[in-house]
Amino acid sequence: MSADPRGYYRLLRVPTTASQEQIKQAFRALAKALHPDLNRGQDTTQAFQAVNEAYGVLSDPAQRAAYDRTGSPETSMPRASSTGSRPSAEPPPTVEPYTCVDCGCVSPKLRHIKYTQVVSYIIGSHRTNIWGVFCEECASKRLTKASLITGAFGWMSVPGMLFSAHALGRNLTGGEKQNLINLEICTRQAVYYFLRGEMRNARIAATDAREFAQGVAGGWWNDAEKRRARELRPIIEEVLQKA
Ligand SMILES: [Zn+2]
Repeated sequence: MSADPRGYYRLLRVPTTASQEQIKQAFRALAKALHPDLNRGQDTTQAFQAVNEAYGVLSDPAQRAAYDRTGSPETSMPRASSTGSRPSAEPPPTVEPYTCVDCGCVSPKLRHIKYTQVVSYIIGSHRTNIWGVFCEECASKRLTKASLITGAFGWMSVPGMLFSAHALGRNLTGGEKQNLINLEICTRQAVYYFLRGEMRNARIAATDAREFAQGVAGGWWNDAEKRRARELRPIIEEVLQKA
């Protein structure tokens, strides 16, 4: 008998020797991470159900003992939800990470960046705002390109000169980084890496997320935005504590 035939311990990311308290904490962290609010636009129901099922067994000393002994949580009372051998094939819970729009990579350092490119004509100028989620490398390529175009073609008219000076100044300081969007991105990346057991990347993303959360708490954000930052805060702290 393998130590964890249905992968319940693996799902909760605890050792088979974990205490009830550890199991409870692990479940609470995962349940938060899989909350629909944190995973807008994707369905985490299945992953959550798997975690919930694992927790249902491991948090019940009798079922846990039966599971450890026989590989099945059945004690005297059969559980309706555990028909067949589904959980052993169940993939561990996961969240879909953000990816770089240019190269498609997953990185703990992804950022939402907005930058401006100015092209001037004889009688006017055209300003393009470009935004997206980029990895560090692609962001710097994009910013360099925008600054070169603005530098070369942005100066040919009076409004162009004003826009260009502004755009260049902003691009060279890294574009306009938006705290709240980046807070969402970094938190998502942190949870993604945490669930995969890639703790170094989880820490990197969570550390940045904490910084963005502080930015939102201290800035001129509205109540809904500040509330969102407060919601994400415990998840970030949990990752930082455990990663
Ligand atoms: Zn990239």
